[in-house]
Amino acid sequence: MKSPIPDYLAEVLETCGANDEGVLADYIPPLAEADPDRLALALGTLDGEVYAVGDADLEFTIQSISKPFVYALALADHGLEAVLEKVDVEPSGEAFNEVSLEADSGRPLNPMINAGALTTHTLVGAPDLDEEARFERILAGLSAFAGRDLAVDEEIWQAELEVAHRNHAIAYMLRGHGVFALDPREVVRGYIRQCAVLVTVKDLAAMAATLANGGVQPFTGERIVSREVGRQVLSVMATSGMYDSAGDWLSTVGIPAKSGVSGGLIGALPGQVGIATFSPRLDEHGTSTRGVRICERLSSDMGMHLMEVPAPARSLVGRRTTLPNVDGAGDGESDGWTYELQGSINFVGMERALRSMVEDPPGETAVVLDLTRVHEVRDVGRRMLLEGVRRLVLDGHTVTLVDPDGLLAEPGTIDAGEGTEARVIDHR
Ligand code: GLU
Repeated sequence: MKSPIPDYLAEVLETCGANDEGVLADYIPPLAEADPDRLALALGTLDGEVYAVGDADLEFTIQSISKPFVYALALADHGLEAVLEKVDVEPSGEAFNEVSLEADSGRPLNPMINAGALTTHTLVGAPDLDEEARFERILAGLSAFAGRDLAVDEEIWQAELEVAHRNHAIAYMLRGHGVFALDPREVVRGYIRQCAVLVTVKDLAAMAATLANGGVQPFTGERIVSREVGRQVLSVMATSGMYDSAGDWLSTVGIPAKSGVSGGLIGALPGQVGIATFSPRLDEHGTSTRGVRICERLSSDMGMHLMEVPAPARSLVGRRTTLPNVDGAGDGESDGWTYELQGSINFVGMERALRSMVEDPPGETAVVLDLTRVHEVRDVGRRMLLEGVRRLVLDGHTVTLVDPDGLLAEPGTIDAGEGTEARVIDHR
């Protein structure tokens, strides 16, 4: 069978490609020479598959799409608190290159506008790194997100540097407020070099998928940043990634996203997919017009919206059965109950499971909790389950956990807290 997915993506590309609204970015001279009709779309799954259609191998400069990833590197290197002291996370509602800082502190409003991105650039690596070493760390970090070695378009870097008056103005203001201590010219050079890193839509889909995957790169399996950093970056992309159209974007498309002036656009839907498009004509916000249409279409066709409410989870307790009489008494009476748990042991599931045990308590001595059909145990679910076990033991039950995949523990005995123990076996 041939997969229907590339055919679907090709159809989306053709329909949305018919639109020719928008204009090329012209403040960076080489970008004004781009072929306006180039068009590409890639979708990256969290287990490492990439579907790509159109000009999928065409390289273009990453521009502002570098911002969320460099923010991620700064967070990984210095921690959330230290980065927050320098760059806030409030949507600015302003254009990307607005010369605006927080009134008293001079702190940039968020890491997606240029003021914030110039600052996060300085926060990558140890504070004493020189310009070259910092850039190496950034390039290696962006490459790790993409899953291949990326390079810089030297010509575009130099061309943008010549006209980077606004970015210099912002960097000098930041320096004046003491947000960073580096030479503003060095910071602008590094930031614009980071914007000139070459990528394809496949690279961007993989980078977005890494964020959607909680920080683990889907091709290489390498953890690039922690789950917490990934969550922070996605949150900021959701609230500020689309600059002055962030609210409209979040309600209509509903995918944390970031655009770049060369025509790239990424979307990262947590736990689902990474999306990337390329088409150089831009709207008044500096975002690819056809990219916006493609994302709108994917979101509505596939229900890919952050606020799309999933169907309520199936009950965590799949079946409750009585155990055959195993005490050898031969009285034909059951000696206990088995609860077959299924799906994800998370807060919602465990709340329902505990509630059913409270409302309809297991009457007999033995209680078996069978995790054979469980596919994940969230931290909160684990704590709730162990607390449930502890209380069952204190109520006089002997508890056995059947855990063939070792989700909770290896075979043996597990301490459920305060000296209460449960037996763990790997099959029933
Ligand atoms: N290098 C560009 C700038 O700083 C990036 C802007 C963008 O892609 O939105 O002006």
